[in-house]
Amino acid sequence: MNYDIIVVGAGFAGATTAERLARKGKQVLIIDKREHLGGNAYDYFEEGILIHRYGPHIFHTNHEKVFNYLSEFTEWYPYRHRVLGHLKDKIVPIPFNFRSIDECFDKEKAEKLKALLISEYGENKKIPIMELLKNEDEDVKELADFIFENVFKYYTMKQWGLEAHEIDAAVTARVPVNTSYDDGYFNDTYQYMPKDGYTRIFEKMLKSENITVMLGTRMSDILRLKDGKIWYKGKEFGGKVVYTGEIDALFDYCLGDLPYRSLDLKLEKHDGTYQQAATENYPCPKEERAYTRITEYKHFMNEFQSDITYIHREFPQAYDKNMNIPYYPIFTPANQELYEKYVKLAEGYEDLYLLGRLAEYKYYNMDAIILKALELAETIE
Ligand code: UDP
Repeated sequence: MNYDIIVVGAGFAGATTAERLARKGKQVLIIDKREHLGGNAYDYFEEGILIHRYGPHIFHTNHEKVFNYLSEFTEWYPYRHRVLGHLKDKIVPIPFNFRSIDECFDKEKAEKLKALLISEYGENKKIPIMELLKNEDEDVKELADFIFENVFKYYTMKQWGLEAHEIDAAVTARVPVNTSYDDGYFNDTYQYMPKDGYTRIFEKMLKSENITVMLGTRMSDILRLKDGKIWYKGKEFGGKVVYTGEIDALFDYCLGDLPYRSLDLKLEKHDGTYQQAATENYPCPKEERAYTRITEYKHFMNEFQSDITYIHREFPQAYDKNMNIPYYPIFTPANQELYEKYVKLAEGYEDLYLLGRLAEYKYYNMDAIILKALELAETIE
């Protein structure tokens, strides 16, 4: 078979690109080293409950284009994600909002703090914690220190193995402080879960006579990059390659390992219902609890008729290419510098495209990856 395009990785980046190009009439080969589609969005049913094998994936977007695109492959279940945080002696809504303030302070103090936040930032605003910490008003500063200490400091150290100020501020800004009673984890226009799960979406996307899927296949089994040229099974490849894996692996780690962060997800089965919210965070020091959060899957699809339940406990850990799976790029200036050096190597290959969280070393949400893939597919002729 003469392929026009080879896509490496069958997660959202790869599958969207493959689907779009096949729709344009291209012959596409998509490979993945794992034995299933979907990358880290892969899910499966266990005793009637849909479990996300690699941790919770909640779909939310403001991009109508992305929502319409995915709607070709799934129906939706309306779902608004809410998270609770286990503070020292209280359980409060996260993102930290006016309700969290009411629960953490006495009435008089809470009223004062809420009024202060409104006068400093306006009503219904979302303030990154690192911004709030810069406020010079004594009471606002006290509140910012309280939130930082109780919600962000240790969670971030567990999650990243770094102090909050060592990673890009955009990371903690994902979960801002709300100057309102809004306790939604996301505030996008479209917030849904796919009715039959993510895996079904991937199966539908890749079901085309123009697409060949090869699972359990590593890139190094069939492709080689050398001196600006791409080789497919020993012959020079005339088509294009879209690569969605780790960029350092693509170049055999020749400039050194690029750090990613990984998770160890412990799946547990319990009777009944385990917790109040779909996700509950534990922002305490690692010595108290080594995990950051627990997600209970039956909340996503309202599967409360089941008398059993499945939860994932998330233990962040260092990524080791021989041991576990990369989940997150780690946003520090040094890592970004190393990444840029790998990009320079990639630029030596005209027909090579880098796409997605791992290859672009960007903390993309699902919708942002899909948007990027749709745009890339439009440019590839
Ligand atoms: N974060 C935190 N405490 C929380 C929730 C989030 O410190 O209770 C910080 C932490 O650094 C985390 C980041 O905010 O990595 C982004 O959180 P998000 O829930 O978006 O992470 P993801 O779901 O992508 O793992």
